[in-house]
Amino acid sequence: MPLQVKNHQLIVMKKHNFSAGPCILPQEVMQKAAEAVVELNDIGLSLIEISHRSKEFVEIMETARSLALELLGLEGKGYHALFLQGGASMQFLMAAYNLLETKAGYINTGTWSLKAIKEARLLGEIHEVASSQDQNFNYIPKGYEVPSGLDYLHLTSNNTIFGTQIKEFPKTEVPLVCDMSSDIFSRTMDFSQFDLIYAGAQKNMGPAGTTLVVVKEDILGKVSRQIPSMLDYSVHAGKDSMFNTPPVFPVYVSMLTLQWLKDLGGISAIEEINEKKANLIYSEIELNPVFSGFAAKADRSTMNATFNITDETLKETFDTMCLEAGINGINGHRSVGGYRASMYNAMSLESVGVLVDIMSELEKKG
Ligand SMILES: *Cc1c(COP(=O)(O)O)cnc(C)c1O
Repeated sequence: MPLQVKNHQLIVMKKHNFSAGPCILPQEVMQKAAEAVVELNDIGLSLIEISHRSKEFVEIMETARSLALELLGLEGKGYHALFLQGGASMQFLMAAYNLLETKAGYINTGTWSLKAIKEARLLGEIHEVASSQDQNFNYIPKGYEVPSGLDYLHLTSNNTIFGTQIKEFPKTEVPLVCDMSSDIFSRTMDFSQFDLIYAGAQKNMGPAGTTLVVVKEDILGKVSRQIPSMLDYSVHAGKDSMFNTPPVFPVYVSMLTLQWLKDLGGISAIEEINEKKANLIYSEIELNPVFSGFAAKADRSTMNATFNITDETLKETFDTMCLEAGINGINGHRSVGGYRASMYNAMSLESVGVLVDIMSELEKKG
């Protein structure tokens, strides 16, 4: 539904947005972001028409970078936070460019892992340490051994398409690299177990157009190849993420979202809400015979719930009920089919409740 701008005051009419990405953002973040496009902080200029070297924007970038480290508990621990471009897909290549000397390990848990593997193969030997491809990625492999001598082990913490999530990360001496695009800032963990974390903004942080990269200083400068400047983490870190013109709008919105999360009480506060949302929908999927879950129970994602309808004759009724209730974006990815309800940080428990009520109403109709 349209946004109406009235004297910088926004009236926003919202649907229940279960889209997998780009996706829901906090209402107040979108209001502030829209205001800044008109005028930033009463400076008489728009956010998107000022120099990225202006003191206003430099402060925005610095705030965004330090909030990211603060929320992850990585402040003062030798990490750089960078806001880069090219999406998480660029990180598939960049991670390998910067860290892969001879051989790296990858845990293959789905489409995004496969894409990461494909790019890394351009630069060295890739060992697929474990995979769940044998069952169309409906589970997370466990109990595998991480070979020593790898330059790094790459994992995908949350598999957006299949609805699986790594709950426990391997304990190993090998440096860990993690694609956290679809669950960063959603759950507490010891983020210092990773040497490199990256996440496209558009799943839990902001609009498409920037990627958060959190990289440990120690791990850089070890490969012998020449790295093109734009692909070199050290270059971006050395310029405080301002080597070239940064994507000012996505960085600003990310900063607002991180501020929103901090004000809410940080990751531990949002984790509690995320668990409530996930429990609500998964208990409905389990109890309601009209639906069946796709992902293995122990590996179910708190961010993306994937499920099928068991009685296809009810599909049309379900789709109509969802449409009428203002539910948006629950069609499953084409490689899985069925439905996918994405419940990122900004989604309310109430919205999940609306969907669950429809699911249980459908059972009565069946
Ligand atoms: C969406 C997504 C990507 C791809 O992100 P882009 O920004 O489109 O390149 C990569 N990994 C995961 C886990 C994702 O969810």
